[in-house]
Amino acid sequence: MKRPGRFSFVLAGILALFVIVAPNYVRLYSENKEDDQKQSFPWMNTRLSADERAGLVLKEMMLDEKIDLVHGNGMPGWRKPYPTAHLGNGGAGFVLGVPRLGIPIIQMSDAAYGVRNSGDNGRYSTALPSNVASAASWDIHAACEYGELIGRELRAQGYNMTLGGGANITREPRNGRTFEYMGEDAILAGTLVGNRMKCEQAQHVLGDIKHYAVNDQESGRNEVDSIISKRALRESDLLAFEIGVGIANPAAVMCSYNSVNGNFACENKYLLTDVLKKAWGFKGFVVSDWAGTHSTVKASAAGLDNEEPFDDFFGEKLKQAVQAGKVPAAELDDHVRRILRSEFACGIIDYPTKKGVVDVEGGFETARRLAEQSAVLLKNGNGMLPLDRARVHSIAIIGAHADTSMISGGGSAQVDPPGREGAKWQEHIWFPTSPLKAVSAKVPDANVQFDSGTNAEAAAELAKKSEVAIVFVHQWTSEGMDLPNLSLPESQDRLIERVAAANPRTIVVLETGTAVTMPWLEKVGGVLEAWYAGSKGADAVANLLFGDVNPSAKLPMTFPRSENDLPHPQVAQPLPGTKGVGEDMKTGEAKASFSVHYDEGVKVGYKWYDAENKAVLFPFGYGLSYTTYSYSGLKVNAGGEPTVSFTVKNTGSRAGAEIAEVYAALPASAGEPPKRLVGWSKVHLKPGESREVSVMIDPKYLSIFDEAADGWKLVPGEYSFLVGGSSQALPLSEKVMLK
Ligand code: BGC
Repeated sequence: MKRPGRFSFVLAGILALFVIVAPNYVRLYSENKEDDQKQSFPWMNTRLSADERAGLVLKEMMLDEKIDLVHGNGMPGWRKPYPTAHLGNGGAGFVLGVPRLGIPIIQMSDAAYGVRNSGDNGRYSTALPSNVASAASWDIHAACEYGELIGRELRAQGYNMTLGGGANITREPRNGRTFEYMGEDAILAGTLVGNRMKCEQAQHVLGDIKHYAVNDQESGRNEVDSIISKRALRESDLLAFEIGVGIANPAAVMCSYNSVNGNFACENKYLLTDVLKKAWGFKGFVVSDWAGTHSTVKASAAGLDNEEPFDDFFGEKLKQAVQAGKVPAAELDDHVRRILRSEFACGIIDYPTKKGVVDVEGGFETARRLAEQSAVLLKNGNGMLPLDRARVHSIAIIGAHADTSMISGGGSAQVDPPGREGAKWQEHIWFPTSPLKAVSAKVPDANVQFDSGTNAEAAAELAKKSEVAIVFVHQWTSEGMDLPNLSLPESQDRLIERVAAANPRTIVVLETGTAVTMPWLEKVGGVLEAWYAGSKGADAVANLLFGDVNPSAKLPMTFPRSENDLPHPQVAQPLPGTKGVGEDMKTGEAKASFSVHYDEGVKVGYKWYDAENKAVLFPFGYGLSYTTYSYSGLKVNAGGEPTVSFTVKNTGSRAGAEIAEVYAALPASAGEPPKRLVGWSKVHLKPGESREVSVMIDPKYLSIFDEAADGWKLVPGEYSFLVGGSSQALPLSEKVMLK
């Protein structure tokens, strides 16, 4: 047989190459062609408004495509996977796009203080300080940085929608999700969540603010009816959302699990349509909390636009309801239009996600800086802080895991720490940021020793031998639970007592998700509330304790003396024999099985303690610094938008940032609690420097909600403006008449 010549070999090679390359070339070519075609769709014209672009797409869509846009496709690990499951990105859910029209899949991820689920997906996320911690900065620029970082990391991981943005005010500090929210004041919470979400969305992800509304406890959250007056709703819980929605124009608002005044939030026409969409002019879409949808016709008519993560009610059932005329076609179109316009408005169509590697080092920097602005110095006895590194020779570091890590908040907010697999539901996750290492690095020549505190006596022994003892204590909280009380768990109060008795130069560092009681307060030298401090929490704490950074944060929530002082001594619980969970509800005729009566009304947080004359442990707005400030020269200009001006002076010897708070007392006829926060300014001052500050007050913040007129009104009369460094230290006041 004739051997094949060299030429035949070359020919065979070329042929093989062609067979391999050609299909890819053809595919690439046709994909490019398709992409080009998509780019030439009229709705890809970026000169048109988001509404115009959405309208053009909607005209082209068929019924099935519209239905595809208004429901989820399951969630990994919950029920049997949907046939479409392979299209997901490993997040909490996704919504199919319309490929033929260039509309992408919406890939959603939880991202309260960082992007969730990175462990299971083999990715990495930065953990920022918890949301309540970030509220303690009272800083809109910090809130913006917070949002930007999360937005960038979402996109790097292939997501184009966040489920972050908790805006429920702290009505019930035992709520296990308090760490996901922004504290007890609606104006502070709304302003910060709005700025955070505005900046997150600017990274071209769909933003979300949740859980709308009055989801103020986790116990029986799927079955509880929150009963509250309209006035209290509008002036407190809803005001936080109103402000947040106004600032951020978020793509989405997530309706909550609970019922409000007799109707589940996700089928509550008053909440979704009358207030959110009509009164506030919200243009985005309402997405249900996960399995928080209970009906098709009622929910759709009430204003729910997207069911997540399943299609129980907004899949086939919605299609049939539209075909049968039970849901008007125009109503479905409105749901779809809202989703599309948000996609255009946030730029997820013009700027498709591109996976990449997150900036780990940059994330650490941001996490540390934000944690430094979030930790509140609560006590500094005899000026023992900052620690003088030239004079400290021995330090005891005491507390569970204080050699390796700090605790983080659980539930769907959980961020997975590096170096291990993904967190299980409600697993207690210790983040690798080592207090022992961070403190040791500050005093390399000192003797820094660790004791876990398991044995209080042994810990006290070590404290006695050391010049200073730093006790790191924790209170773990999570979605899906409430705290039985506000005490530190695991006998940590006793540990602190023992250590402080052995060495009064004891500093307590709190790693908590909400307020805690402090029976040992008088006995310790210092207290720093570090909250859940994130990826670089320990470095931030060390920088604050050693004075490399001057503390500036202030409490966004009151720390009461005891649970007995709360409006409700106990958290309302589901009835015996019921579980208070969503699976019970899948009948389409769900009913709340128990209720919580928020009869304290507008008296949330400090407004309650003020009105009831109850002393507190630490008031709202409180926080110490290593310098001191004085206030003078209050002037109130009572124009259409009143302006409050005053001078803040740094009277100490260190540079610092003072959060100057402005409160208003309304005329007695308004029937309001003694005062409310109406504005603030964070002033950076060098030693000896003074600055005149002007704070413009939104007239709505001085108004009350008139139920009869269904609107806001300013009660004419005498208003007092009070200014100072905490809700209970207000040295300046001036009265003015407002009409
Ligand atoms: C939580 C939401 C979360 C969703 C998806 C729900 O259980 O309440 O906050 O976004 O799950 O994980």
